Amino acid sequence: MIVVKVGGSAGIDYDAVCADLAARWKTGERLILVHGGSGETNRVAEALGHPPKFVTSPSGYTSRFTDRQTLEIFEMVYCGKINKGIVERLQRLGVNAVGLSGLDGRIFEGRHKDSVRAVENGKVKVLRGDHTGTVERVNTGLIDLLLNAGYLPVLTPPAASYEGVAINVDGDRAAAALAVALKADALLLLSNVPGLLRHYPDETSLIRAIPAADVESYLEFAQDRMKKKVLGAAEAVQGGVKRVIFGDARAGLPITAALEGAGTVVS
Ligand code: ADP
Repeated sequence: MIVVKVGGSAGIDYDAVCADLAARWKTGERLILVHGGSGETNRVAEALGHPPKFVTSPSGYTSRFTDRQTLEIFEMVYCGKINKGIVERLQRLGVNAVGLSGLDGRIFEGRHKDSVRAVENGKVKVLRGDHTGTVERVNTGLIDLLLNAGYLPVLTPPAASYEGVAINVDGDRAAAALAVALKADALLLLSNVPGLLRHYPDETSLIRAIPAADVESYLEFAQDRMKKKVLGAAEAVQGGVKRVIFGDARAGLPITAALEGAGTVVS
């Protein structure tokens, strides 16, 4: 089993990812696609007059502050436009894909965090009314059902809280939890960069290999949202996934290239 997570940043070529995925699926490989949609969500939120608000935690992690209205815009884009766009591409390529969020069948489940500590103007503030959380449990029943019936699952946040409330969760870490739950052979985290860069944004500074035991020490090279990918990679390898690859989804055969060792390989 291979879990492929494709991001939502500018420059990602969904046609290339879907074509590669479809070709591999048709050879009998078992794959699941998880996707993001942050770039498009920001654009739609601006257009709807509810611009995105990003907060930085005291430990330096950036996340989207998700009030109820933001959550609804997030769902429109992630579960609607992006998810159905990917499913449509796969259907056109002859793959019977099914698009679901983590709410459906409680695939992704976790604790709802209503407040977040954020650094604003050098001061730590507590912001309430946040609909965020972290995936703590993956319920694979529905996924097994789909895979066994020949459907390719295309998954996206949000997740379900234990109380059944929709929560915005990080897609990379959700994909990592899924890869652990499915005992995947590999987790691919594909984005609009060649991999983890030692001197971001210098693409010639690509880090080619990271020993599984040391992933966390590479957090220092990752800025802002890349940190979540490194954290996700650490969680995946600690959970028994043999290989995590940070790869490039901007062109070519993104999945095949990553599996052949392009990008940053954590193993
Ligand atoms: P996606 O939504 O595509 O999954 P994110 O935007 O969440 O991706 O994270 C990837 C982004 O992280 C890159 O586009 C890049 O701008 C940023 N980044 C920060 N530090 C690094 C680094 N050391 N190496 C590569 N990318 C980095």
